[in-house]
Amino acid sequence: MNKFEQELKNNNFVCSRCTRCNKIVWPPSDLCNKCFGDVVWKPVSRKARLIEFSRKNGEYFCMAEFDEGIRVMGTVESASIVHVGQPLTLTRCSYDDTEKFVFSTDEGK
Ligand SMILES: [Zn+2]
Repeated sequence: MNKFEQELKNNNFVCSRCTRCNKIVWPPSDLCNKCFGDVVWKPVSRKARLIEFSRKNGEYFCMAEFDEGIRVMGTVESASIVHVGQPLTLTRCSYDDTEKFVFSTDEGK
C-alpha cells in the first residue's frame, strides 16, 4: 500500500508534487512521471467539479475534477438531480482494494 492509498484510508486525499519541476504527478506516484524527480505529498482541496455522471440503481456515479486537472471516479450523494459542471464537495474518501470517493452537492458546507 503506498502513501496515497494509506492516506485515502484515513479519509485524506493527497496528491504528489514533483520537487524538481513542480508538476502535480497524477496518477500519484513516488516519482515524477515527467522528470523522475522526487515528490512531496500535499493535501488536495476537497472542492471539485462534476465532469460526467451516470445513474444506476438510484445511485449517481461520477467523474469529478479537482484543481490542477486531477480527475477521479466516485459517487454523488444528492437529494436533487445533478448536472454537469456542478460544484461538488468531497465528503469521504477511502481505500478498500480500490479508491473510493463520495461527493455531495451541498455548496459551501
Ligand atoms: Zn518532475
